[in-house]
Parts: sequence; C-alpha cells; structure tokens
Amino acid sequence: MIRIAVANQKGGVGKTTTAINLATALAATGMKVLLIDLDPQGNASTGLGVPHEQREYSSYELLTGACTLDQAVVPTRVPRLDLIPATVDLSGAEIELIDIEHRTHRLEDALNESADGRWGVCLIDCPPSLGLLTINALVASRSIIVPLQAEFFALEGLSQLLKTVERVRAGFNPQLSILGVALTMYDRRNNLSAQVSDDVRAVLGKVVFDTVIPRNVRLSEAPSHGLPALIYDHRCPGSEAYMALARELIERLPKEAVAA
Ligand code: ATP
Ligand code: MG
Repeated sequence: MIRIAVANQKGGVGKTTTAINLATALAATGMKVLLIDLDPQGNASTGLGVPHEQREYSSYELLTGACTLDQAVVPTRVPRLDLIPATVDLSGAEIELIDIEHRTHRLEDALNESADGRWGVCLIDCPPSLGLLTINALVASRSIIVPLQAEFFALEGLSQLLKTVERVRAGFNPQLSILGVALTMYDRRNNLSAQVSDDVRAVLGKVVFDTVIPRNVRLSEAPSHGLPALIYDHRCPGSEAYMALARELIERLPKEAVAA
C-alpha cells in the first residue's frame, strides 16, 4: 500500500476536497483506497457522509493505541473506498502524544501492523498545521501531494512546508518525496490565476501537475450532501479535473502500487 499525505499548513487551500475526490477517482479506476482523516475538523469524514454515530473509533484512537486499524475503518458509499474517520478528540492528540513513546511514528506503526494487501493506496488528509499530526502523516507516507490555491500568496508558507518535509526526510523517512503540487480553485476568467500558475511553475517546475482544479461551485456543494463531487455530479468541471489529476497521479506512482 502506497501512502500519500495531502498536506499544506495553509488553511482552506483544498486539501480535503482534493483528498476526497482523488480518493474517489482512484477507487473509480479499480484501486482499493483507504482515506485517513487526520484533521480534528473531520471534514473528510463529513464530506463522505459518515455520521458522528459511525465514528466510534477514529484516527484519534488509532494514534493513541486505543483501537486497531480494523476497528477504526468504516466503509463509505463509494465502492472500494474505506475511511478512518476523525472526531474533535483528535484536537487533544497534539498535546497528549507529546508524552507518548515514539510519538512521531504512531500512525506509521498502526498502519504497519495491519495486513498490507487490503488497499493499494492510502491518502491522508492533514490538518492546516505543521504539528504532530502532520508529522505523523509525513513519517508514515512515501510521498506528499501539496494543494496550492491559485491566489496571490500561493507560495507563501511553502518554504516552511518544504523545510518540514526535509526535516522528516533527514530524521525519520529518507524515502519521502513530493509526488506533486496541485493548483486548486483556478479561475479561468481571472488573469491573476494564470499569473500565479506561471509563477508557481517557474519556481517549482515539473513537480506541479499539468492538471489544474478549477473553481467550481459543485465541488463546494457536494460535501453538504455527504458525497464526493465525483458522485454528486460526475460531469461537472471540478469532477472532470479530479479524474484527470488522478490519471496524472497514477502515472507518477510506482507500477507495483497501481497493480495492487
Ligand atoms: P482546512 O485547512 O480547513 O482543512 P482545506 O485545505 O482542507 O481546509 P477544503 O476544505 O478542501 O480546504 O476547501 C476549503 C473551502 O473551499 C471549502 O468550502 C471547499 O468546499 C471549497 N473549495 C475547495 N476547492 C474548491 C474548488 N476547486 N472550487 C470551489 N470551491 C472549492
Ligand atoms: Mg481540510
């Protein structure tokens, strides 16, 4: 199972929207996908229609060792897509984990304990911070996808994220790499979006996905129906863009991960 963190410490840049819809798009291609909601806001869980009653065990219990992976996994309405939900309890984890042994490796340990053949790919939706939750995601992952909002300050804060990736790579996880940067909320009618896209590509180069995710109201409506946009309206521009992004992502994955 290849594990990919969806991370950017900036809030509201499209991490959760990307995690949900990429996970759905990958599942639609036949892959078995696990999505881990590692954000106390629980947006990925709500957006996939998993009600609070079904979050008996969550990523919090998984990190603190109070449950196994099997106990925490819930199915979603999307075939081949399973979820480990999050609850607000997770907001305490940043503090509580400080005293726990091996605190940066809790997620990795929990994932390593499970039978590996069940899912081909695992996406981890990170919170908007570079705290212990995001560190756990980066330590547990092979690579990272960075959603970047196509707006004036897009690159601001990115150096902090890259420094954190470098620290995790040097300290714990030498194989960690950036799989791709995805431009989100791109507005075709706005020159600024095009300008930002050019700037980001000039600075970051090939790591930026060719596919850009347009600003599309269907993407923001879908979570209130508890559905990925790809199911809510699979023909809207946002859904089509996430399908294209998934195809690009698959090309960047090691072949054995795609076959799983
Ligand atoms: P947080 O940092 O709070 O976890 P996030 O990075 O996960 O936020 P999202 O929750 O995915 O960001 O998106 C922020 C808001 O923007 C949400 O209301 C979402 O529905 C909306 N949104 C995300 N992507 C798009 C898009 N391409 N077009 C229109 N709205 C979008
Ligand atoms: Mg989010």
